[in-house]
Amino acid sequence: MTNRDLWLAVLDRLKPTIQKTSFLTWFQHTGVVERSESTVVVGVPNEFTAQNLSKKYDEKIAAAVVAVDAALTDIQYRVAPGLGGTKESVDVRELFKNEEKVVRKVRNKNEVKVKTDGGVQISKMLNDRYSLNSFIVGTENRLPHAVCSAVGDQPGGVYNPLFIYGNVGLGKTHLLQAAGQKILSNYPDMVVKYITAERFVSEIVAAMRSGKAAKFKQEYRNVDALLVDDVQFFARKQASQDEFFHTFNELHDLNKQIIVTSDRAPSELKILDDRLASRLMMGMVVELKMPEYETRLAILQQKCQDFGIIMDPEVLEFIANNIQNNVRELEGVLRQAVATCELENRVPTIRDAAEIIKRLNKAQEIIGYDIEAKQMQRMARTAEDVMELVADHFELKVDDLTGKDRHKEIMIPRQICMYLIKMELGHSYEKIGECFGGRNHTTVMHACNKTASTLKKDVRMVKVVNALKRDMGL
Ligand code: ADP
Ligand code: MG
Repeated sequence: MTNRDLWLAVLDRLKPTIQKTSFLTWFQHTGVVERSESTVVVGVPNEFTAQNLSKKYDEKIAAAVVAVDAALTDIQYRVAPGLGGTKESVDVRELFKNEEKVVRKVRNKNEVKVKTDGGVQISKMLNDRYSLNSFIVGTENRLPHAVCSAVGDQPGGVYNPLFIYGNVGLGKTHLLQAAGQKILSNYPDMVVKYITAERFVSEIVAAMRSGKAAKFKQEYRNVDALLVDDVQFFARKQASQDEFFHTFNELHDLNKQIIVTSDRAPSELKILDDRLASRLMMGMVVELKMPEYETRLAILQQKCQDFGIIMDPEVLEFIANNIQNNVRELEGVLRQAVATCELENRVPTIRDAAEIIKRLNKAQEIIGYDIEAKQMQRMARTAEDVMELVADHFELKVDDLTGKDRHKEIMIPRQICMYLIKMELGHSYEKIGECFGGRNHTTVMHACNKTASTLKKDVRMVKVVNALKRDMGL
């Protein structure tokens, strides 16, 4: 039996015993990465999944593994981020394919709707990450959100056409697609077509070239809701504008919903055919603005939840403070900070975030942190410095840290101290062992790993360690 067959058999046994959404979440892109006579090592995409599987599902997994192969009594989990998509890993969505799929070919062959047993419809063109629920609402974007929601409930109603505009990275595509999703979930039989203006243009050009213009037209006349992203792209493309204008008129006459987005206000779309521009303004025009600080912070918190990561709240505040005009950038800084630190097995600090922001935008002044100044005043240079700092912080003596007491009030600070010396000063495990009363290097290694893994799940620990790093001048 290959590793893959083994894991498929295990998943098959587990599937009926675990709630479907949990199963899809926790077993996605897992696989057996190593196997010996009695041990299987299960590869998982990240540390969070590893912890969850071993905490919540270990018994079930063990039972299923033994049922498939009685010799396999030892199960381990290992983070293997590259596993997803390889032939070793399993795309668990496949396991549900046969049971639930009611695929209907709809009038427009581009839209295949999949009806799941939960009653959710997914159109291939829409990204289900972009929903109205996952859009954080603050005072600045309440109106666009509410209008999209209303359109989702009543396409072709009062807000038709709907024109959404705003600067790049503020959530236009997100809202546009979310409106489409809501239409589909309310009216499963409707045909919703999402397309970027850029693609619309290239499709027209291709259709004309191959003499299929009539077919192209027909396809668009058949939709119930047409969502066109980034219409500023129609600028100076007369033939495409004409075609869109006709499509628009026909659909609008039939009370079909049209939503477009643009990076500028309709009045500034001068390059567009005047007739088209005025048609687009006939219905509802809403502007998306950059969310204010509180909303930005809420977005960051939501993204942390989505990614399953824990961050120091102060670091999130710092990012929200510094990224003021692009939500995509907000998410980008968070992702980069997490990715950089994941490699080094540590939690991002304000300094990490500051450096990423600096790289992103050299001209911008960074609020609340002075990278150069901090570099000058790196205060803790030796292991002894760090030990004093940590002892002070926990109101202990350095002797407590080097001593043998294993109460957790002392042991945890001791482990944190070893971790900081390892991560920030780069001393070897052996050398650190010597500083701590001649401890074995494996003890030090264990302490560092323990601290690193606690940092992934305990926000209090993150705060303590980051406060200590600040004291160290980092
Ligand atoms: P645009 O199309 O305006 O350039 P996008 O819709 O692509 O911007 O948004 C950029 C990113 O920011 C996306 O990942 C989107 O999910 C996210 N985003 C923007 N606004 C919000 C919000 N209010 N809540 C949650 N995520 C948001
Ligand atoms: Mg966009």
